[in-house]
Amino acid sequence: MGIFDRMKKIGIFSGSSQLDDEFYDDLEESLILADTGAGTAAQAVEQLREKVSEEKIKTPEEARECMCGILCEKLQGASPELDLSTHPSVVMMVGVNGVGKTTTIGKLAARMKKDGKKVILAAGDTFRAAAADQLAVWAERTGAGLVRQNEGADPASVVFDALSAAKARDADVVLVDTAGRLHNKQNLMNELSKISRVIDRELPDAARENLLVLDATTGQNGLVQAREFQKSTDLTGIVLTKLDGSAKGGIVLAIAEEMGLPVKYVGLGEGADDLQPFDAKAWAEALI
Ligand code: GDP
Ligand code: GDP
Ligand code: MG
Repeated sequence: MGIFDRMKKIGIFSGSSQLDDEFYDDLEESLILADTGAGTAAQAVEQLREKVSEEKIKTPEEARECMCGILCEKLQGASPELDLSTHPSVVMMVGVNGVGKTTTIGKLAARMKKDGKKVILAAGDTFRAAAADQLAVWAERTGAGLVRQNEGADPASVVFDALSAAKARDADVVLVDTAGRLHNKQNLMNELSKISRVIDRELPDAARENLLVLDATTGQNGLVQAREFQKSTDLTGIVLTKLDGSAKGGIVLAIAEEMGLPVKYVGLGEGADDLQPFDAKAWAEALI
């Protein structure tokens, strides 16, 4: 069963049979339960009330459909396509520890290899040797190239090497893994800024994606993480992982609203094939 079917089955939204205050309250509550944030939920319901009156909508079914449209619209610009228009192009994953950055890189590498692309993985998480080992397993599994250095090496230097390798080998995409935890937050943010500067300098014209990886089960904290990472990295989108273990995921709506960041992919498991382009319509339907 896919995540959206599952969310439907759980039926976060039970719903009133009439278009009364109870209907709107239930709807608002179901959005809040799915982690959209209270403000976003209230605003969406307000917009629905206006539309219902404007369009003379009479039934809860029609109203729910209308709500789907409103939610989808809030996620617009949510084109799941990554900009990979240059050779090489660079996709960097950032996010706190354990959200699924390395796994997502592995899954993306698998997808890209299937599309016939030449992929290089940059082991920019040098905080622990195990991090590069984990990426090496994905490189092996997917046939992507791997650039790594020793534990404790400067991640910007690893990325520099990876970009050089990409140019030399005429690669299509460099996927950059990063650490999610350092001795303190400022160190991590400085490190990410430095990596970005190296890419700016070495490949000034490259198509770039900086994806914030968020764990769907962490709820509203995702917004805090997004604000924090936005300070050091020019984020271009979100990957929402672990939706297989959660009926939530409403947090992407709050993030799209506040920061204008589209959701690119969702993670639905630990395997190479468990990554799907984000489908805003299916997501909205499942949510309500
Ligand atoms: P990182 O610290 O951000 O690099 O996170 P990892 O990629 O190492 O992932 C942390 C854990 O989450 C691992 O056990 C992954 O297998 C698991 N994981 C990653 N993505 C998903 C997902 O979409 N669904 C599930 N169920 N587990 C995931
Ligand atoms: P700044 O930190 O923005 O001033 O940038 P730097 O010019 O100091 O370089 C940033 C990073 O790129 C450094 O950590 C270096 O390790 C790395 N780097 C720069 N040039 C080279 C190079 O020729 N080879 C390697 N391996 N790394 C380099
Ligand atoms: Mg990792």
